[in-house]
Amino acid sequence: MEQIYDYIIIGGGIVGISTAWQLQQRCPDKRILVVEKEDTLARHQTGHNSGVIHAGVYYAPGSLKATFCKEGEQATKAFCRQHNIPVEVCGKLLVATNTDELARMDALYERCLENGIDVEKLDEATLKSREPNITGLGAIFVAATGIVDYRLVTQKMAEAFVSLGGRIARRSEVISLHESPETIQVGCKSDGQPFMLRTRFLISCAGLMADRITRMLGLDTDFQIIPYRGEYYRLAPQHNKIVNHLIYPIPDPELPFLGVHLTRMIDGSVTVGPNAVQGWKREGYGTLNVSARDITDMVRFKGFWKVTAKHLKTGLTETKNSWWKPGYLNLVNKYCPQLTTKDLQPYPAGIRAQAVLSDGTLVHDFLFAESPRSLHVCNAPSPAATSAIPIGRYLCDKILTVQQPDTTSHTQQAGSKPDSDSTTDPYAKHNQHRSSASDPDQSQEQSQKQNALESQEDTQKKSASVPASS
Ligand SMILES: Cc1cc2nc3c(=O)[nH]c(=O)nc-3n(C[C@H](O)[C@H](O)[C@H](O)COP(=O)(O)OP(=O)(O)OC[C@H]3O[C@@H](n4cnc5c(N)ncnc54)[C@H](O)[C@@H]3O)c2cc1C
Repeated sequence: MEQIYDYIIIGGGIVGISTAWQLQQRCPDKRILVVEKEDTLARHQTGHNSGVIHAGVYYAPGSLKATFCKEGEQATKAFCRQHNIPVEVCGKLLVATNTDELARMDALYERCLENGIDVEKLDEATLKSREPNITGLGAIFVAATGIVDYRLVTQKMAEAFVSLGGRIARRSEVISLHESPETIQVGCKSDGQPFMLRTRFLISCAGLMADRITRMLGLDTDFQIIPYRGEYYRLAPQHNKIVNHLIYPIPDPELPFLGVHLTRMIDGSVTVGPNAVQGWKREGYGTLNVSARDITDMVRFKGFWKVTAKHLKTGLTETKNSWWKPGYLNLVNKYCPQLTTKDLQPYPAGIRAQAVLSDGTLVHDFLFAESPRSLHVCNAPSPAATSAIPIGRYLCDKILTVQQPDTTSHTQQAGSKPDSDSTTDPYAKHNQHRSSASDPDQSQEQSQKQNALESQEDTQKKSASVPASS
């Protein structure tokens, strides 16, 4: 007989796994499956980031980012304590290097206070005494900021999920979705072989592929994912003690990126970065990686041209600095003058999944969409790793309070209440449900389901000795 899952979650990044783990805790009797196309979890954004547990400095008060980040900072630290995951609460300095930045720094200081974050203003001399290798006119110090390895956090959450009875199917890519009044049929592919699953409810946490999943269901959500590479260097090991805290510039408030920073990593090294340059392949980490499909999708999307035109000068400067190391170095020399190009060693890039609306707006806050039987995380940029526990809780609350879903879909962003009228939400559009899958061949389905279950069992075997988490 065909197995029907109560919940299928697409995506084995930190958001999908956190959601799966919390949903299984809250619904111990439900059959929950995570499908992940890669053979390891946290392969994409979750495994290619700065590893910072953010305190929530930058985000508009009352936005989902501000709320989730603050909660997430504490929840992540608590989870790590409980699961013996190394965390260092080293604190962060935002350093102003000119008078313009001093004014913006003051605004960020006020924002910290509004967001209820403990913050301290430092003058030039105090900054020098705390960070002898850093130069600036002043700084703000945020003590709660920490560092962690988010791959390890995701792995521990996955083990906790599996120990509660949840299943994870790796090497299983979702390629089609068809929603009917009772279920969603989930077409997958594993090692080139198609197979079909069915679920009563679908949750998509697909990161760089979020828009492709909503399109498979025919949701008309007015956003597309544009990939922005975040390129890093690692400092030569003799500089591992160059800073005592994380050192950030004062960011451009127009952009959702924080600027090239000096980040102490949990392994003791120090990275410089990330910048923000156009990516030409969503999941291609090499400098020269391009994807015809990804480029075609981008150039057909008018939001891409609008956002590119709007930020053309910044984009060109970032691109120049990406190819020209002295230009990149200047960004960090502003506050750390002693570093030279020889100190910048190669380090893997990350790629941000940035939702852009068709009018060219860069979506700053978390963004969600839904259909009667599905819920989608459409934009989960930084600090979504920090915020993964509250995002997962939010999704669980939303799923478990939906009694009888209505027949429209809508997209929700910061400030819009989860159940707000979609017509008042500028990001909302009504859904026209369309099928993107053909009906399954039953016998093929049976054999391919077996394939998927084998990979689930792999996971269970690997996690057999892991105790259940509370
Ligand atoms: C350069 C960089 C630096 C960052 N620094 C920080 C930081 O310091 N602190 C912080 O809090 N946040 C940071 N972030 C943000 C954070 O890493 C991400 O917001 C977070 O990891 C998003 O998690 P996710 O689970 O939504 O996405 P992902 O980790 O990208 O996971 C999505 C998963 O979905 C899978 N998937 C996609 N499509 C399919 C499909 N069709 N079928 C099956 N599986 C599919 C993918 O393989 C992937 O594993 C940074 C991000 C970047 C890129």
